[in-house]
Amino acid sequence: MPDRMPLAKLIDSPFISLDETNIEMASILFLFVVVILANNVERRRQLVRHLVQAASIAVFFLIIYSCLGVFGMIRNGLYGLTLIGTAYTESFYWMSLPVVVIASCLIAGPVFCGWICPTGTIQELACAIRRRIVRDRGRPTRRQQIALGAVMALFLGFVVWLSATRNLFIEDSSLHWGSALLLLCYLVLIGLIDDLPTRSIRVVSLIAIVFTTVSHLVITSPVHFAFTARDDPASATTTVIIFVASLFVMRAWCRYLCPWGYLMGFLHRFSRLRIQIDPARCNHCRTCHGVCDTGAIDDDGVRQAHCQMCYACVDHCPSKAFEVIDVWRDQGALPAAVVGGGNKPATGAGAAG
Ligand code: SF4
Ligand code: SF4
Repeated sequence: MPDRMPLAKLIDSPFISLDETNIEMASILFLFVVVILANNVERRRQLVRHLVQAASIAVFFLIIYSCLGVFGMIRNGLYGLTLIGTAYTESFYWMSLPVVVIASCLIAGPVFCGWICPTGTIQELACAIRRRIVRDRGRPTRRQQIALGAVMALFLGFVVWLSATRNLFIEDSSLHWGSALLLLCYLVLIGLIDDLPTRSIRVVSLIAIVFTTVSHLVITSPVHFAFTARDDPASATTTVIIFVASLFVMRAWCRYLCPWGYLMGFLHRFSRLRIQIDPARCNHCRTCHGVCDTGAIDDDGVRQAHCQMCYACVDHCPSKAFEVIDVWRDQGALPAAVVGGGNKPATGAGAAG
């Protein structure tokens, strides 16, 4: 197996080896089990989901040494593609996780995002903290905007200073994404740009990762530090930035910069399972708006490109207005429905928070 494999694991040999190679089948089976759980568990589903998220953090940080980073999976998948026809086993090793995650999305929607992704789980923790401590989710006051701007300027100054001391900053590239995230969140929070259009930037992230991969530039993602034997303080710092950003804008990284999230959202339009709202049962209480971290629900229904299939809306709706549609089976699936009629679409700081 190539020496590019991340190795900082408590257990550094496969749990369930494929044909005595280093290909770890446990992570792939784990993904399948999650898809089955997401499809079938209805009682205490959110508890089960949180347990899966905790297990996933433990499994992927400590045991399985296949990279599940949001950049790494794209890189590995592309690398595996180049090996087809020359080294099949190795090609499968690199491609196995990305392919299984894509397959899981086509079957059950982006359950990877809602149930497994460690970067997503870190943000969800921040969102939970925010819900507890912040009652008013309106736009920051002028004084708060200035204070936030000052903190951000200090941080960006620190990053610029740091970059001057490093190898063209490539080795610490994840901090670029962290800085961009802070800037985007700040602009959204003060109302200079809107939440929804800003989400399109994720496609730029995706193009950047593909471009750097084919150019043989290794750039690291947040949470990468957990997948590698190498010291990666930049990645660890970016992880902290993402956590902090999500205290201000729910799942900020998922919304604005995650390339993998963009891919999942794109593929979700072909998924077998979708969550939709039955307008006849909706009582416009807007409970669903409050529990959806990604702001995927608006007055026109569920925005599939931003839904992560966490099922929080389904489980919390007091009117049981949400339905999981199997579009392969139910050709006459419900049309996109109206929720919280008369309220503004989810744009701007209020929606972002
Ligand atoms: S959008 Fe990206 S960071 Fe968020 S859960 Fe999905 S893969 Fe993870
Ligand atoms: S729309 Fe529902 S299932 Fe989708 S991300 Fe929001 S709360 Fe989760």
